[in-house]
Amino acid sequence: MKYISTRGNAPELSFEEAMLTGLARDGGLYVPETIPTLSREEIAALAGKSYEEAAFTVMRPFVGDAFSDEEFKGIIARAYANFRHEARAPLVQLAPNHYLLELFHGPTLAFKDFAMQLIGQLFQFSLARRNERVTIVGATSGDTGSAAIEAFRGLDNVDVFILFPHGRVSPIQRKQMTTPTDSNVHALALDGDFDDCQARLKDMFNDFEFRDGVKLAGVNSINWARVLAQVVYYFTSAVSLGAPDRKVSFTVPTGNFGDIFAGYIAKKMGLPIERLVIATNQNDILHRTMESGAYTKEGVTPSISPSMDIQVSSNFERALFDAYGRDGGAVAQLMEELKDGAFAISQGAMETLRDHFASGRASEEETTATIAGAFTSCGEVLCPHSAVGVKVANAYLGDVPMVTLATAHPAKFPDAVETAMGARPALPPHMADMMDKDERVTRVPNDLGALETLIKERIAQR
Ligand SMILES: *Cc1c(COP(=O)(O)O)cnc(C)c1O
Repeated sequence: MKYISTRGNAPELSFEEAMLTGLARDGGLYVPETIPTLSREEIAALAGKSYEEAAFTVMRPFVGDAFSDEEFKGIIARAYANFRHEARAPLVQLAPNHYLLELFHGPTLAFKDFAMQLIGQLFQFSLARRNERVTIVGATSGDTGSAAIEAFRGLDNVDVFILFPHGRVSPIQRKQMTTPTDSNVHALALDGDFDDCQARLKDMFNDFEFRDGVKLAGVNSINWARVLAQVVYYFTSAVSLGAPDRKVSFTVPTGNFGDIFAGYIAKKMGLPIERLVIATNQNDILHRTMESGAYTKEGVTPSISPSMDIQVSSNFERALFDAYGRDGGAVAQLMEELKDGAFAISQGAMETLRDHFASGRASEEETTATIAGAFTSCGEVLCPHSAVGVKVANAYLGDVPMVTLATAHPAKFPDAVETAMGARPALPPHMADMMDKDERVTRVPNDLGALETLIKERIAQR
């Protein structure tokens, strides 16, 4: 299995190389050269299997010869061992034909653990075998950073630096990043918003001297291995609801388009998905794009669902690559135009996108009302991101079962939940003391040179 760049101008890599590299050297994102498919029989055979067994079947064809079957099974087993639910990704019912896929039973209480715990184990295995060290730098709107730190803390061959927007993550998200005491963990509070964090990260990857000097590796949602890990729960949930004999739709609270793109890959692999609904909060670039065909940046307005406060949705580039018939030159051209703030999508590409994706947005008031409504109607406590999903999904309910992805535990966003329903959701008992722990964090300017200097100094000190 070979991986190619969405901008058509970077070396082809193996799964392991693409995973360790992250962003392609032409600025593009790696995607598999072809999407393997599972037969109806193979999909049907997932029924009744454990999450780990399903994960092996779904991901194996993408990995090539990077690991033996036994090695890959061991990696998967270690990745999901710290989850606190036997099913890993359990489904609960909200209403007739509407289900919630709870993706928050991992160590940091958000769906990003599904990918990050796997990637931690993959990196550890590969780097130990190669006798190499890498520097992981990640940008986060909150949940990626804590998930990355939790996945990489204490590993010998990795330093992990996480950039988060100062003052714009929830207190619990911040504590999850700043309280680990491992010496290979570095939490950096940047003076700017999430898009600034993401832009500085991209700048570091485009500074080849720095990139090669510190052996930079990326674990943001642009990393193909993360997308791959997220494909699995589309299969397990759809099969629970009767796939492949019955179609299923999904609504996905979306920011960087990684999670919903994984659903698109599941569909390409043969899972009978009727509809993939993009759910955005008031930062609705993707919804506006689906409506108008124009991808136009606007400023980010902080919301009660901060992990979706994004205006440049990196993984959307992968969907564009397919919509443009896998023409890397065309994608590179669009991304060049985006430097001036906008690009227009061709009519043919829009038709392809609309074949797969629908969309909707939830305002702050609608999100709050949805949290209150779900608690009244079925006793389910939703986090604000999941509530955005449920609100948008409600417009698409029908004969086909709808699965809305619940991306975080409500206790990660206690203020928004308390405002909506008058009760404060409690952290799970094993995390109850987190808010009292000491923090370790460095405030940093929104400046590439200063960041690179800091990272080099920290690595030298180890
Ligand atoms: C990251 C995140 C999202 C958005 O996921 P993308 O893959 O970036 O679209 C939604 N909800 C929560 C809680 C998140 O942490």
